[in-house]
Amino acid sequence: MSLPIVETVESAAETTPAPASAPSADRRPVLSATADEWRRWMVDRGHPAYRARQVLDWVVRRRAVPFDAMTDLPRALRRELDEEWTVFGTTVAYHDVAPDGTDKLVIECRDGRRIECVLMAEGPRRTVCISTQVGCAMRCVFCASGLKGVERNLDSAEIVEEVLHLRNLLPPEETVTHIVVMGMGESLANLDNLAAALDRICSPAEGLGISQRRVTISTVGLPEKICKLAAMDRQYHLAVSLHAPTEELRNELVPVNEAIGLTAVLEAADVYFERTGRQVTYEYVLLSGINDRPEDSRALARLLADRHAHVNLIPYNPVAGLPYGRPEPEAIDRFVATLRQRGISVTVRKTKGRAIDAACGQLRRRLQPETERTPR
Ligand code: SAH
Repeated sequence: MSLPIVETVESAAETTPAPASAPSADRRPVLSATADEWRRWMVDRGHPAYRARQVLDWVVRRRAVPFDAMTDLPRALRRELDEEWTVFGTTVAYHDVAPDGTDKLVIECRDGRRIECVLMAEGPRRTVCISTQVGCAMRCVFCASGLKGVERNLDSAEIVEEVLHLRNLLPPEETVTHIVVMGMGESLANLDNLAAALDRICSPAEGLGISQRRVTISTVGLPEKICKLAAMDRQYHLAVSLHAPTEELRNELVPVNEAIGLTAVLEAADVYFERTGRQVTYEYVLLSGINDRPEDSRALARLLADRHAHVNLIPYNPVAGLPYGRPEPEAIDRFVATLRQRGISVTVRKTKGRAIDAACGQLRRRLQPETERTPR
């Protein structure tokens, strides 16, 4: 995750273990079943089908209390539920709050694996940044998430639970307004589970009713998956992690590019724009002395000149043990100016939560450093 950092943050936040409520391994998480499966479960046991809606409402919208506290359900049903189901499959292992108010959760899955997600507040926006995989297979050379490779995909219930755990931190009158899929993992490598999770979260009837246009999916750029997502006819905002304007430099920074190639990535992004009408954002992490040179900004402008594109520059958030640094503000300003002079729409990402390692697998790393391999 690159987003979370604010320059004013100085003191380190405290790490506090969250209250334990370990779910039993043999009970199914409520969100592992669809609304249809829930209706069938109720009817098969002689309950009215509408009880399914009540249970899901409690978990998704009414902030997931224990079954016993679902007071509009008959007591006997609450006991039956407790025997077979658990409200959440995942638990909050750690909760950090940065001095700027950014919350970061380390979530523990039922198999003991851990992922990270973040809640950021800015004006009226409440944005969550969620993970899609445990680890990442892409091995972008500057990123902490891929240092150990990928362990597995998250299932759709685990992805939805990230959003709900973060939403549950908000006061009752607030809710999540935006989602960025920029946590650990390559989002489109787990497209089916991600799409199912987002459908559920965005559903006005059964989810949180978040508009698809307020969801950003960030990808390293897997052309076939971008086209598949385009064909799903959703309105998600696509962000492609470009990071380099030439084949040679991108191969170096984003090794999967060797097998894919810049042209294929750009063409797939063009398909996404044509099909959905949504402007594509190109993310570009600025690494001092590596891809922030004047010739890089000029080459980037040429590459995107005829595209309906937006560039989001991400000043690098240094990762312990990796040999990359953030450019000086003057270098960032020069990069921006070159793009603007050439008519490219560009913003620089404001970063939050630096004191709590709210970036790219960094908190998880700090909590279990002994299991980490040395970076390549
Ligand atoms: N797999 C997805 C999501 C990755 S995280 C993707 O590749 O887009 C979101 C963005 O943060 C990506 O552009 C990623 O390359 C970038 N990023 C990773 N580590 C970073 C760091 N330490 N500092 C700044 N940006 C980083």
